[in-house]
Amino acid sequence: MLITDVRPWGGEPCDIEIKDGVIAAITPHDPARTVTGDTVAGRGRLALPSFSDVHCHLDSTRIGLPFRPHTGKPGVWGMTMNDRAHWREDEWTVAQRATYTLGRMIERGTTRVRSYAQIDADCGLERFEGVLAAKEAHAGRCEVEIMAFPQAGLFKEKGVPELMDQALASGAAVVGGIDPCTLDRDPVRHLDVVFGLAERHRAPIDIHLHEPGALGVFSVDLILERVRALGMAGQVTLSHAYELGTVDEATTRRLTEEFAELDIAMATIAPAQQQHALPLAGLTAAGVRVGLGEDGQRDFWSPYGNGDMLDRTWQLAFTNRYRADELIEHCVAVATRGGHSILQGGPERLTSVADRPGVFVGDAGDLLLVEGETVASAVMDRSDDRTVLHAGRVVADGLELVG
Ligand SMILES: [Zn+2]
Repeated sequence: MLITDVRPWGGEPCDIEIKDGVIAAITPHDPARTVTGDTVAGRGRLALPSFSDVHCHLDSTRIGLPFRPHTGKPGVWGMTMNDRAHWREDEWTVAQRATYTLGRMIERGTTRVRSYAQIDADCGLERFEGVLAAKEAHAGRCEVEIMAFPQAGLFKEKGVPELMDQALASGAAVVGGIDPCTLDRDPVRHLDVVFGLAERHRAPIDIHLHEPGALGVFSVDLILERVRALGMAGQVTLSHAYELGTVDEATTRRLTEEFAELDIAMATIAPAQQQHALPLAGLTAAGVRVGLGEDGQRDFWSPYGNGDMLDRTWQLAFTNRYRADELIEHCVAVATRGGHSILQGGPERLTSVADRPGVFVGDAGDLLLVEGETVASAVMDRSDDRTVLHAGRVVADGLELVG
């Protein structure tokens, strides 16, 4: 497979050869080259690593369905109950909705996903099975890690840890946890169950943390204690954690250092209150893996999220108030290679805001070709002229799935 006339990270025009799903050679573009076999015409577009969405909820998406007015009540419990009251009324099944949205994500340049699947006393494994069906429908186009996620807590209702265990035995690859203090109001027991499931299933952990300031730090310290005791460095991601920058400076410095030391990864969704979070560039400079996700996608929680990670990359730059090209490009690095480094078997972490990995010999043949003068301008313009490759094969072209 040969991709002709593309500009890796906006550099000089090149031809990229892919063998066995991996970039085998990158050479200056030669218009006179005789080509045999599969080719993709780059037409001078940018070549970037494809996106990795490390935090989406495919089990709750309503993309493709009629827009519905927002009826959510404030707070995690209010929103969870709003979702519970309505999700069965959806015009499509969970499998249909998740499959449609995942296809849309692939068409726009995402080839790796960590999706939450809600597990609770109301839905049992029904939503998990819907996400599993979407994963199977798009196998060969996208890698999907499913997280068993106790959205309504582990102990507020009966039987949830057992359902989590069943999901993990049936294809869920990641153990989720959520707000150990504010939701279950029993942080030690909550985290002991989460880490116990992770040990039993040899699965990584992803904790959804909305808790404010000092309370969030308290939960994080309980998590760090368990990572140390169980030797689980490199196995834990914190999602959201968007209030950890609101405590005193010494604490935020300590947390950043401990995250780097224990290789705790961070998944951001580029929230409006980005200034309350640990600073993105500071995390990267310390060696903390950071990835980007869309969170909900036009669902009962929020009307935001459209399946386009290039849009969410713009949002990451915007909420960080970035203007310099280097920092906007760093957002692309986070949304692509940064997220990939969080998923199982992913590459090394980014090393600095100037790091531009993912389009070199030996890298995965997972690429997004997109029209743009420079990488920063591509984030601002977000062209529809895109071609998406997964494992060296074209899986989408012109915002349509291929094959
Ligand atoms: Zn979420």
